[in-house]
Amino acid sequence: MGTTSAQKKFGALLLTWHDTENERELPWKNEKDPYKIWLSEVILQQTRAEQGLPYYLKFTGTYPTVQALAAADDDDVFRLWQGLGYYNRCKNMLKAARYIALQNGGKMPQTYDELVQLPGIGTYTAAAIASFAYDLPHPVIDGNVYRVLSRCFAIKTPVDTTIGKSEIAVLASKLISGHPPARFNQAIMDLGATVCKPAAPICAKCPLETLCVASKQDLIQILPIKIRKTNVTERHFLYFVIENDNHIYIHKRGDNDIWANLYEPYFFEANTGSTDDIEILSRIQDSLNLNNLEVKMAGKLRQRLTHQLITSTFYVVSDPESKAMLPAGFLRVSIHELNKYAFPKSTLTFLTKKYMFKFH
Ligand code: SF4
Repeated sequence: MGTTSAQKKFGALLLTWHDTENERELPWKNEKDPYKIWLSEVILQQTRAEQGLPYYLKFTGTYPTVQALAAADDDDVFRLWQGLGYYNRCKNMLKAARYIALQNGGKMPQTYDELVQLPGIGTYTAAAIASFAYDLPHPVIDGNVYRVLSRCFAIKTPVDTTIGKSEIAVLASKLISGHPPARFNQAIMDLGATVCKPAAPICAKCPLETLCVASKQDLIQILPIKIRKTNVTERHFLYFVIENDNHIYIHKRGDNDIWANLYEPYFFEANTGSTDDIEILSRIQDSLNLNNLEVKMAGKLRQRLTHQLITSTFYVVSDPESKAMLPAGFLRVSIHELNKYAFPKSTLTFLTKKYMFKFH
């Protein structure tokens, strides 16, 4: 299929806006170091820019190069990541950094095809690194880009289907062609974030308004079209925080579930919806030898992950005489040293509040 006149005008209008009106400031903008671009993109997946910024600064300060990250201790990196959630991002980043250090002489790969082979680097991140660091013509396609393109060109194929994704990818490749890749990609993402917003786009300030079919045909509120609903599983976690002389007991989670390798107090997952179930509580008390100790419910927190809604209920047990019999693998940690460990978000919130420790 040839290029339409709207497609031909798109890039020039977008870049003129970028040069004259785009005021979006981000610390990683115009960054050319592929490692730092990668870091910013990994941090920004599922995280807002304002929330991600302090993490970006901490990571680039502590691990300024991919070699430094590759040589870091897992627990130190997880602790720095603490609060961002989605720990798989962090685990994959470490894995990829070590691959680069060991198999690629410590140098970031310089082509899209090599980048996309690395753990945790998908087409979006590979395109971002390839275009921003090396000015290669790969379009980045994130939620902002889906929105701008589906509205501007009235694409009604659902963007969360293979065919919809491919339609947008073909169009984006056509649009970026002949334009400076890094500037083009930055401009379209910024336009989506600041002008073509999901609920209330500011069409009067949009450089694409003369081309935009959605704006002319009153399709803004229905585009982009998505068909899939996310299935959410509800899970119910019980935690027993056993206190002993200003210490509590924690252990490292296994790696076959969410929050792999993070720390937590004694944990039990209830099959039923009720984490206050007397029968469950007394079974746990029996198994941990807590029967003569007072078990107090001290808090309940809910956390939404992409596919899971987790309710965590925290029980605190004071055990001055060390009666609790915990399974192997538990550490007795001073409450003043809890900041040396990485915890899942809800556990961290609970412990921080209860023991007033600072984790940064
Ligand atoms: S004119 Fe409005 S709907 Fe169209 S791309 Fe611009 S901001 Fe989005």
